Amino acid sequence: MVQGRGASAGTPRSYLDWAASAPLRPVAREAVYAALDLAGNPSSVHAEGRRARAAVEAARTAVATLVGAPSSAEITFTSGATEANVTALSPALCGGDPLLLVSAIEHPSVAAGGRFRPDDVAVVPVDGDGVVRLDQLADMLEQARARGQRPLVSLMLANNETGVVQPVAEAARLVHAAGALLHVDAVQAAGRIPVDMRALGADLLSLSSHKIGGPKGVGALVVRPGLSVPPLLTGGGQERRRRAGTEAVPMIAGFGAAAAAAKVDLEEIQRCSRLRDWLEADLDTMCGATVVFGRNAPRLPATSCFAVPGIAAETAVIALDLDGVAVSSGAACSSGKVAASVVLSAMGVPGELARGAIRVSLGWETQEDDVARFLAAWRKLVARLRPSVGQAA
Ligand code: PMP
Repeated sequence: MVQGRGASAGTPRSYLDWAASAPLRPVAREAVYAALDLAGNPSSVHAEGRRARAAVEAARTAVATLVGAPSSAEITFTSGATEANVTALSPALCGGDPLLLVSAIEHPSVAAGGRFRPDDVAVVPVDGDGVVRLDQLADMLEQARARGQRPLVSLMLANNETGVVQPVAEAARLVHAAGALLHVDAVQAAGRIPVDMRALGADLLSLSSHKIGGPKGVGALVVRPGLSVPPLLTGGGQERRRRAGTEAVPMIAGFGAAAAAAKVDLEEIQRCSRLRDWLEADLDTMCGATVVFGRNAPRLPATSCFAVPGIAAETAVIALDLDGVAVSSGAACSSGKVAASVVLSAMGVPGELARGAIRVSLGWETQEDDVARFLAAWRKLVARLRPSVGQAA
């Protein structure tokens, strides 16, 4: 249970929106604070500079270890995963005639196509469970090859709305057989399931600190050895000339501490799947019409996305908030919009049902009483908005 977080002190609240942003880990807070007092610029050669540099390099090693990067030299720190994604999506990676293939369920920072022209972006569909259609990907790669193109493919490891885990290693085999490159947005997967860049076959991989308990506003792009991406920010020689600008030392230090802790917690977080399964079983009992999106696909242990016909997400999120439970309607980045989620539409979910989608996401601090508080609030809502089916079991 999260006491008083985001509410007046003493009001118990349950924060179940970890996929939007995870609470800061105490070790990350300590690392941020400690690094705030480092006076030096990491590019300076004096002792103060070297101390700041050491903090950045320790974080680089921790982040590399979290994702099985061949070495820390492959990590470039950025202002977050949005910047990492936009940097990664560079037409220069295609050689001649640029083509970007993105799945239909990518985060907006990938779906927007990065540095590709809109006409050079094509979308790979997903099936009804929200899993990318590898047969379609293979066809699109074949067509590109016939045209003499070597596309860049961008596929997320786990979806931010449904938690559905994508067959990235299989996709990587197809992509590489076609002489193409694969970028993986591993933002939601990192710290929730093991992520091994080499086992996945990712050529480029994006990460965000605040999803794993680090501070907001910092992330990383991992680029495998032998590959280079033109920088997005130019001018300074920082980050091996891959990203100009003085490094955000405190944020990077916090990210590193969170990455190390996330690696240790990987087993612990699997216990969330038991809480998630209990939550979904109770939702079914409360209302047989509940639809859990992506239920038949492999999913992250800590994310559940569902809807009940007749319950609008906006109403539900506000009612739950008043009852002390923080959840999201669809993706946080797009909440505030009434439009149905692009991800659910791509899965063929009718607009009316998609507009009721609620995402509950758990994390390493989530306890049974958090789930119980959510279920009690949801039960009230179902009874109020669907009185004919809302009898609680
Ligand atoms: N990709 C995915 C899958 C995400 O969930 C998010 C955050 N919502 C991002 C990218 C962007 O990350 P950041 O907030 O660090 O820019």
